[in-house]
Amino acid sequence: MRRSDGEAPFAFHVMAKPTGARCNLDCAYCFFLKKEHLYPDSNFRMTDAVMEEFIRQTIAGHAVPQVTIAWQGGEPTLMGLEFFRRSLEVQKRYAGPKTRIENTFQTNGILLDDEWCRFFHDNNFLVGLSMDGPGELHDVYRRDRQGRGTFDRVLNAARLLQKHHVEFNILCTVNRTNANHPLEVYRFFRDELGAQYIQFIPIVERANETGFQEGNTVTDRSVRPEQWGRFLVTIFDEWIGRDVGRTFVLNFDGALAGWLGRAGTVCTFGPTCGQGVALEHNGDLYSCDHFVEPGHLLGNILTTPLVELVTSEQQRRFGRTKRDTLPRQCRECDFIAVCNGECPKNRFIRKSDGEEGLNYLCEGYRIFFSHADRPMRMMAGLLRQGRNADEVMPMLAAAKRAREGIGKGRPKRSLPLRERFEV
Ligand code: SF4
Ligand code: SF4
Repeated sequence: MRRSDGEAPFAFHVMAKPTGARCNLDCAYCFFLKKEHLYPDSNFRMTDAVMEEFIRQTIAGHAVPQVTIAWQGGEPTLMGLEFFRRSLEVQKRYAGPKTRIENTFQTNGILLDDEWCRFFHDNNFLVGLSMDGPGELHDVYRRDRQGRGTFDRVLNAARLLQKHHVEFNILCTVNRTNANHPLEVYRFFRDELGAQYIQFIPIVERANETGFQEGNTVTDRSVRPEQWGRFLVTIFDEWIGRDVGRTFVLNFDGALAGWLGRAGTVCTFGPTCGQGVALEHNGDLYSCDHFVEPGHLLGNILTTPLVELVTSEQQRRFGRTKRDTLPRQCRECDFIAVCNGECPKNRFIRKSDGEEGLNYLCEGYRIFFSHADRPMRMMAGLLRQGRNADEVMPMLAAAKRAREGIGKGRPKRSLPLRERFEV
C-alpha cells in the first residue's frame, strides 16, 4: 500500500528476529540455522535499545492506525518473557491515541507454558505454531539438538494455547515426506488439533552450505514440484467439499484473492515484493525474511531511519524485480494473475530453451490452479455478488448429484467468508 504521492508506504511489515537465527531446535531443513555465521561473534540477543528503536520507528512510520509488531525467529521465546513485557511498555509509550497494535509471534512451541500463554491471551497476541502434522510425520525433521522428536512438546503447546484461548495459526512446512500424506496432515490439524487457521509452506531448500539463495539443486528433503501440486489438490478437494468458511487455509485464501483480481493477500502470489522486511537482532534490516544475506542488507535502523530503508531505491528495485524478471512461461501462463511467478527465492530453474528463472514449484502450481479453477471461479463469482464463498459447497454437491442423476440440492445458509475479502 502506498501513499498517493507514490513515495513512502502507508504501512509496511517488519519481521523482527530478536534472537536472530538462534533456535532451540535443530530442524533438518531450517534455512536460518546456517545463517548464524552472518554474525560470528554475536550473542544473538536483541538489546532493549534496538527493540525500542524498532517499535518507535515502526509506529511512527505508519500512516494508518493499524500497526503489526511481528516477532519471528530463530526462536523468539529464547529471549524470555520479560523482554516481551518490556516491549509492550515501549509500545504503549509510542502509540498515538488512535494507534491499534497487534503483536504476532511465531514459535516452535517448545518453551510455552501457562505463563507464556496467559501473557499471549492477556495481550491479544496472534501466535503461529510450527507443526508438520501428526507425530510420525512431524518428528521426521522437527527434532531437538539431542535428536529427539518434538511432537509431544508441540502438541502440549497447542493444548496450552487452546486452554488459555489464545488465537493461533498452524504453520506446516511441506517436505518430501509429509507431502505424501496430505489428508493425514490436514485431518490431523482440523479434527484432532481443532485448528481453524492453517498455512502450508513448501520446503524448497537449496543444496549448499551457505543457507543463501544460491545454486539450482535442492536437497532431498525438499518437496518435489508435482508432489506439492498433488498435496494442494488433495487437501483442496476435502476443503471445498465441507470446510469452506470453517477451516481457513491461507494458501487457498491467497489463491482465491487472485481469482478476485486482488492477488497479493499473501506475498508469494503478489505481483511485486518489498513491503515485508526482516529485522535482525542488531538492527540490520534486510529486504525479506527469505533474503537475509549480505546482498540484500538495506542498512541498520540505529543509523538510518527505518522508513528511509523501506522506501530506498534498493528496496524498490527488490520489489520490482519479481515482476520484471518473470520468464516467458509465466508471462504467457493462464494463471499469471493468480500466481505472479510465486516467490523469487524459488525461481532458479533453467528451461530446455535456455531461459532462466522459472519457479521450481511451477509444475505443482499449474496442477493445483488447473484443478481449482472452476470452484475458484464460482467462489469469486459469489463474492462479487455479495454472497458468501461457502455457498459453493452445496452448489458443487448439487452439480455432482445432477451429473449422477440424483436430482438437485438446495443451498444451505452460509458463513461470512466474504468479509475476509471486503467485497
Ligand atoms: S521474496 Fe518471496 S517471501 Fe519475500 S516478499 Fe517476495 S514473494 Fe514474499
Ligand atoms: S504457474 Fe508456473 S508458469 Fe504460471 S505464473 Fe506460476 S510459476 Fe509461472
